[in-house]
Amino acid sequence: MIDWQSGTGPLAFAATADNSRGRRYDEPPARTRNPFQRDRDRIIHSTAFRRLEYKTQVFVNHEGDLYRTRLTHSLEVSQIGRSIACALRLNEDLTEAICLAHDLGHTPFGHAGQDALNACMRDYDGFEHNLQSLRVVDELEEKYADFPGLNLTFESREGILKHCSARNARELGELGERFLQRKQPSLEAQIANIADEIAYNNHDVDDGLRSGLLTLDQIRAVPLFGEHNETVRQRYPDLQDRRQIHETVRRMIGEVVGDLIDESRRQVEAAAPTSIEDVRGHATGLVKFSDSVLERHLELKRFLQEHLYRHHEVRQMTARSRRIVTELFDAFFSDAGLLPTEYAERCGGANGDATHARVVADYIAGMTDRYAIGVHTRLFS
Ligand code: MG
Repeated sequence: MIDWQSGTGPLAFAATADNSRGRRYDEPPARTRNPFQRDRDRIIHSTAFRRLEYKTQVFVNHEGDLYRTRLTHSLEVSQIGRSIACALRLNEDLTEAICLAHDLGHTPFGHAGQDALNACMRDYDGFEHNLQSLRVVDELEEKYADFPGLNLTFESREGILKHCSARNARELGELGERFLQRKQPSLEAQIANIADEIAYNNHDVDDGLRSGLLTLDQIRAVPLFGEHNETVRQRYPDLQDRRQIHETVRRMIGEVVGDLIDESRRQVEAAAPTSIEDVRGHATGLVKFSDSVLERHLELKRFLQEHLYRHHEVRQMTARSRRIVTELFDAFFSDAGLLPTEYAERCGGANGDATHARVVADYIAGMTDRYAIGVHTRLFS
């Protein structure tokens, strides 16, 4: 039996500075920080991280001050991830670094922007936000004199790359191997992945209700929300709606996080890994919900798909976003001379080839919602 309660350091199967596969470019260790704390700090100081403040999660950034943005989403993911990592005696710093970086490659306007950019890039290897997050930390951030990108540890990069096609995996070398060999990433990476889902499922309930696109009556039919909401209303009959909603969401997060911790402990005990390589070599991931809570979590996810993400007002935002991204791409791809100098230089004089297309995709992906709208207005209005 593993002692989950006590002990200070991470367990034997956690990622540590000692079992790290290191950085792409060798660097002397930091004087007071471990490698994963250093990764986290570099992520927080990056330009791409600051831009998350003005990028859409579901609602376009300027539609209201209270909705989640990609920045506040990433902070919530990291809070949830750290709590789980701590309870499983894993590496909290690595978990935090992965969570904070997981959305760095997102385009403006959320998934609508990514889908539009992917369509524009169909003849040039496509566009995928997850791969773009890796590209941001490996290449696009220009901050340090001695290397391109942020030069993060293998473990942070492994966690950022959640999925990958076989073709891309072959080009990524060591980092792509696990997709070809069907291996797992570290437990810290597995946590970050599920913490992302827990965060957006729950905060989209909150934002959906706040916006009026969802109603309380409607969402009470979803068991995960409905049951906790019933308990809250019985215990606190006079509570006003906003507090009632928050108290409900808080209990929902408590249920799924608690279940995830319990089930993952069971999975780890059954698999009995003795090193991070055992975790990586295991046939399946070990950070999981129990079957019954997984079903409750998925029910809520399906509800949000149907009633929030496909709500006609969200679709209207989506249609507008798609048009902005597509028109921006067409403009910059038909004339490299419209690109800002630093991007135009990266095209190396080319016009209309794959290099040019990738530069345009990098430029557009880096835009915030309002910057994209501003450039679009300048070009087309
Ligand atoms: Mg996310």
